[in-house]
Order: sequence, then structure tokens, then C-alpha cells
Amino acid sequence: QFRSSLFSATPQFTSYARLLSSLAILEQRDGKLNGSSLAAVTAAQKLGGPIHAFVAGAGTKAVAEEAAKVEGIEKILYVDSAAYDKGLAESFAPLVVENIKKGGYTHVLAGHSAFGKNLMPRVAALLDSQGISDITAIEGEDTFVRPIYAGNAILTVQSQDSIKIITVRGTAFPAAEPTSGTATVEEGVDPKDATTTEWLTENLTKSDRPELASAGRVVSGGRGLKSKEEFDRIMPPLADALGAAIGASRAAVDSGFADNSLQVGQTGKNVAPQLYLCAGISGAIQHLAGMKDSKVIAAINKDPEAPIFQVADVGLVGDLFDKVPELTEKLKQ
Ligand code: FAD
Repeated sequence: QFRSSLFSATPQFTSYARLLSSLAILEQRDGKLNGSSLAAVTAAQKLGGPIHAFVAGAGTKAVAEEAAKVEGIEKILYVDSAAYDKGLAESFAPLVVENIKKGGYTHVLAGHSAFGKNLMPRVAALLDSQGISDITAIEGEDTFVRPIYAGNAILTVQSQDSIKIITVRGTAFPAAEPTSGTATVEEGVDPKDATTTEWLTENLTKSDRPELASAGRVVSGGRGLKSKEEFDRIMPPLADALGAAIGASRAAVDSGFADNSLQVGQTGKNVAPQLYLCAGISGAIQHLAGMKDSKVIAAINKDPEAPIFQVADVGLVGDLFDKVPELTEKLKQ
């Protein structure tokens, strides 16, 4: 009872602020701060208490200085070493653990990105803590909300671990912005642990379009597109007309119409754009799990009974091969 009255009064858990301290793990690539990783800072702000942030990789002092402008962060710890540049979880996890131990944090947060999903379970294991993943809300210093079963059930988890290792869903915690903050920037500890895992190479999909997970508008295609050729003919002009990122259903990805990195859903990316416009997607629960928090959902499907229409704000029943090019032309005008 005491607990619930304490936490219902205000979203900032100030009564615990004395004890609480958070470390937000930031991501960087090629010496540039990945802005979406600042969702971890937003979640830390909701917890209250002092916030430190951590970043590692080659040339990360500049990244740390940029992150220092985020309001509410007291200190940025950086480790400037090429050994951590690619965020290889095998070496990054012991590095993070050393810095957690040194700082005595009660909460460690990272984005629920590929990096966070890879890193944080290892950090949790090294600290013998039960990781708490993909949270969408914070109810108290030890109580977190997370979706399970593809978003069909919402779990409220209470953790008794002394260090809580958390990943946060970016669509639920909008990334904090670097503005006029004045955090101090300090070197973190580097255990220089040897690892048998080596980073060899990566193949990145290059695109001039907005990044899918953080785009304000997303157009998504499904199995109804019929082939890769049709997907490539129909979807990019629509995306260009709207300045949108392209997404796809798993059926479209599995059929080879679209790249795996474009998959939206339970086993793909979570998106919550201002506009999610999908064509030829039926609306399976596993797809909805990744996009149902979009502000406006618009769907084009030839089947009026398609489940997507149950979640769509705007629906158009028709053949996408007619409707999408027609819409694209109208948008261009
Ligand atoms: P379909 O369900 O085949 O729907 C195609 C739609 O296109 C139909 O509604 C049809 O009416 C319409 N259509 C066909 N032709 C036209 C036309 N000419 N004009 C207009 N409309 C047309 N799915 C995901 O998307 N993301 C995930 O992350 C994901 N994870 C999964 C995880 C698990 C464990 C499992 C079991 C499944 C997962 N799935 C996921 C798969 C999911 O269950 C569905 O199979 C998938 O979403 C279906 O994709 P679709 O809507 O493109 O295809």
C-alpha cells in the first residue's frame, strides 16, 4: 500500500532519489552518437536520481561531449579504444560491468536495439542479475512494464535485484535530445580483458531513406505485393513521395521481396511513426506487435475482412497495384 501510494503520486520517484543512480549505455557508430540510444536516458530521467551515461569505441570523447548536452545527465564516462568500436558484446559486457561496479549504480539502461539486446543479457549474467528487457513503462524504482506474447499481454515485473539491468523500448521512451546540458566528461575504466571473439566484417544496408525504427512515416508492404520486382516497383516511389522509410511484413521478407532489416513485427523492428501506411498486409498479431503504437495507421487491402482494418484509422479496400500508384501520383502533385 505504501509503495503504491508513493508511486501513484508522481511519475518521478523522488522518494527513492537518494538511493537511486542510473547508468545509461549509449551507442555510437563511426564516432557519431546514435540518437535513438538516448531513449535509455529518458527512461533514467523517469526513474529520478543522478544519471551517468557511458559510451565506448574509437574517438568517443567527441561523442561523449555531444551527449553531455543532454539535460539531466551529470556525467558521461567514455572509453576511447578501438577494441570496443564495434560494440562486440563479448568484450563490451565486462567493460560495462567494471564501470557499473566502480560507479555503484542501481539501474543500468540501454535501448532495446540489436546492440542492447546483445549486450545487456551478458551484463546481467555477469552480475548475477535477472535482466528486464523491452520495458514500455516504469511504475516504480523496482517495477517495470513490458509486453509479452507479441504484445497480447502486458507483464508488470518487480525485481529484487540490487542492480537492475534494463533495456527500453524506443517507441515508449522518446530519445532525449542534446540541448543545453553541461554534464562532466570523464574517462571510464577499461579492464582490457582479452576475448577470443574477433570482429571480422559487416555488411550494412545503405539507404538514403529515414531509418526505419525512428522514421516519422513508414510505408510497409506485404505478401500482397506478389514478388520482389513488384515490391521494388510499387513501394519506393510511395516512400519517396511521403519521405518515408520502407518496412515489410515477415511474409514479404521470407519470400525475398524485401531485406530482412526491413521487417516490422514481433521478430522484426518496433515502429511507432506518425503515419504507418501498409499495403498487402493482412494484419497478423505478430505484425501488429511491431506497429500498433503508430499514431495513424492506414491500410490498403483487397479483402474487406482483413484483420488490419480492425486496427487501421484509415482503410482502403482495393487492389494495391491500382491504388498505390494512384496514391503516389496524387501525393507527388
Ligand atoms: P498474408 O497474411 O498472406 O497477407 C497478405 C494480404 O495481402 C492479404 O490480407 C490479402 O488480402 C492482401 N492482398 C493480396 N493481394 C492484394 C492486392 N492485389 N491488393 C491489395 N491487397 C492484397 N510477421 C510479421 O510481419 N512480422 C513479424 O515480426 C513476425 N514475427 C512472427 C513470429 C512468429 C513466432 C510467428 C509464428 C509468425 C510471425 N510473423 C511475423 C508472421 C505472421 O504470422 C504472418 O504470417 C505475416 O505477418 C503475414 O504477412 P502478410 O500480411 O504480408 O501476408
